Amino acid sequence: MAEFNIRRLISGGLITNYFCTSRCRHCLYRCGPRWPKKYMNPETGEKSLRLIRKLGCRSVHIGGGEPMLRPDELGQILDAAARAGVHAAYVETNSSWFRDMASAQSVLSDLREKGLQTFLVSISPFHNEFVPFSKISGVMEACERTGISIFPWVADFIPDLSAFDPDTAHPLKDYEEKFGENYLLQILKRYWIHTGGRALDTFRTILPNKSPRQILAENRGGCAQELSDTSHFHIDLFGNYIPGLCSGLSISIDDLGKPLSEKEYPVLTTLFHSGIKGILALAQENFGYAPAREGYINKCDLCSEIRAFFVEQGFGGESELNPGAFYRF
Ligand code: SF4
Ligand code: SF4
Repeated sequence: MAEFNIRRLISGGLITNYFCTSRCRHCLYRCGPRWPKKYMNPETGEKSLRLIRKLGCRSVHIGGGEPMLRPDELGQILDAAARAGVHAAYVETNSSWFRDMASAQSVLSDLREKGLQTFLVSISPFHNEFVPFSKISGVMEACERTGISIFPWVADFIPDLSAFDPDTAHPLKDYEEKFGENYLLQILKRYWIHTGGRALDTFRTILPNKSPRQILAENRGGCAQELSDTSHFHIDLFGNYIPGLCSGLSISIDDLGKPLSEKEYPVLTTLFHSGIKGILALAQENFGYAPAREGYINKCDLCSEIRAFFVEQGFGGESELNPGAFYRF
């Protein structure tokens, strides 16, 4: 039987913090203001970056949460990247930190000195529920003035956001009133969104739901492919490696590069070998779990519910269902 072993990393990033000014409906990591105000320390950053390099990846992005809520600490992570010989390709931001042009230019100049070359600036109706467009425009202008490149994600939404008062945030219902009741569904077609984390709660109401029986019939194998995918990996401030896009699952960075033990990672290794069918059986046979809803969008929706159930039961290896706050927010 194939073993679950992350031997090589292709492309990914660091999660410096999970706390965020926003609580976007599509957030894969369920970030928000209620998360503990913890930020990656330079030692964990450097250790993670050296490991990333050792496993074959020489460039990372830095995201959160909102990494710019602590620019000095972000600067220390950029320093750590330079020491580890890993290129910091871009930093993601929601622009909520923008106050005025002078202070933005000052903070950006300091970060540029430390190697910040590009900002991925989030632009979407989900972000605009919390961040006024004027702040986003302000950050983009400050970047231009300080010689930092911008990667607008996604520029296609600029006309939508521009249809409203730029100085305030706008709830999704404003967009539905202006652009049609099916606006949420339209977003899915215009924007790459992985339906995991909080996006499951958001899209469950508008996407077709399937019964657990149907989901099992359609997904008979394990999740080896998804869990082994290192083309968009993340390592967070707690030293958790997040396999694939499976937020809420984790591997200690100390366990990368070696086969995962079934004893220490009972949930992950079951998912790897037997998929959703395997963890459903694990939950039913050991704890009498029964699916709470009639319908789920996909196997990951059911998987998330079962994992939250395991957390409630205190089941699972110490390093595999982290961070714990993911299952509370
Ligand atoms: S998507 Fe980004 S801005 Fe929105 S809650 Fe998540 S981390 Fe914060
Ligand atoms: S079912 Fe679970 S392990 Fe499998 S891809 Fe979905 S979230 Fe990942």
